[in-house]
Amino acid sequence: MVLDCSDNFATRHALNRACVKHRKPLVSGAAIRFDAQVAVFDLRKTDAPCYACLFPEDGAVEEVQCSTMGVFAPLTGVVGSLQAMEAAKLVIGTGETLNGKLLLLDAKQSEWRTVRIKRDPACTICG
Ligand SMILES: [Zn+2]
Repeated sequence: MVLDCSDNFATRHALNRACVKHRKPLVSGAAIRFDAQVAVFDLRKTDAPCYACLFPEDGAVEEVQCSTMGVFAPLTGVVGSLQAMEAAKLVIGTGETLNGKLLLLDAKQSEWRTVRIKRDPACTICG
């Protein structure tokens, strides 16, 4: 499996392409300012979405990086721990992972949300 702890879309998409090609689980984590997200793309499963289903490579997503925007320092620890937890569950093969789900944390408001991610049949990477 691959844990994506990078801070830019070029790396994230390169890792996603490699995981799709080799059918490896991708545990994605990101944090900026007071916002964080964690998702699992278990690409061993044929119906699993990939990172590009959520964020298309040709999508108009504005790239913001921690080096310019800053990040609430404890948030990176939270995201790293969540990624480690999801990775351990994938290795052990127990429980329910975040496969097909995006876990969002608004650290400023102390609010968590989970959003379902569906595989995009028109995805240029896995479709
Ligand atoms: Zn996809």
